[in-house]
Amino acid sequence: MNSEPSQQPSFRIRWQGQIEAVQCRAWVWRYKMDNRTHHHLGFNLFVKGEADGREGRFIVAVSDTQHTKLQFRIGDVFKGTAWPCSKAKHDIADYHRAGGFKALSRADQQTDPAGPPFTELMPPIEVFQRCGPRMLDAKLWRKQCFACMWANKSAVEIEYKFGKVKRYRKETFCYGPRSCLSYDMGPPREVQYFDTFPSIDDGWMDDLCTEQRGDED
Ligand code: SF4
Repeated sequence: MNSEPSQQPSFRIRWQGQIEAVQCRAWVWRYKMDNRTHHHLGFNLFVKGEADGREGRFIVAVSDTQHTKLQFRIGDVFKGTAWPCSKAKHDIADYHRAGGFKALSRADQQTDPAGPPFTELMPPIEVFQRCGPRMLDAKLWRKQCFACMWANKSAVEIEYKFGKVKRYRKETFCYGPRSCLSYDMGPPREVQYFDTFPSIDDGWMDDLCTEQRGDED
């Protein structure tokens, strides 16, 4: 939804629409050069439809438990309730605390899941925690990767002045196989600190974040 947070209602709204993408839901803590911690919260549904009486595209945050039960997939049409994320700094979603789900129609099972993009049913959140993410070019995330189960856009909290000042932004990541031919890291990312030059995350932290894969792709 394009409305500013201050314009959003602070009460439960109704939404309905078709799911265009399902991605894991996470937030990232960054501190200077060598700290990038990904916290996995559940899943984001990217929906085209109507929310709070307005038509458009919006993101609904759901929990791992809700996803395990309802098995959301691209093409499903759902309706439900949720609350605006007006002050939720660790979510990129427009709405969270979703409930009252009702499936209005379900998409067919994928018969040809070969990717990229990979569009099988999303695995549980533990799989994302185990794989770990690499930085993904933001343009790729928006275009070729948007429907991919391994794509992610996270809220990022930067420890700008330790314990006193934080800064917030959004970044894009990929949890998919290292062999994916669509992958590109994009430009290195600056991590600012108040009294020094910014640190540069040029990809070496991706190796740390994915080291638990071992020899797996
Ligand atoms: S680069 Fe990552 S997100 Fe994009 S298609 Fe490949 S696995 Fe999916």
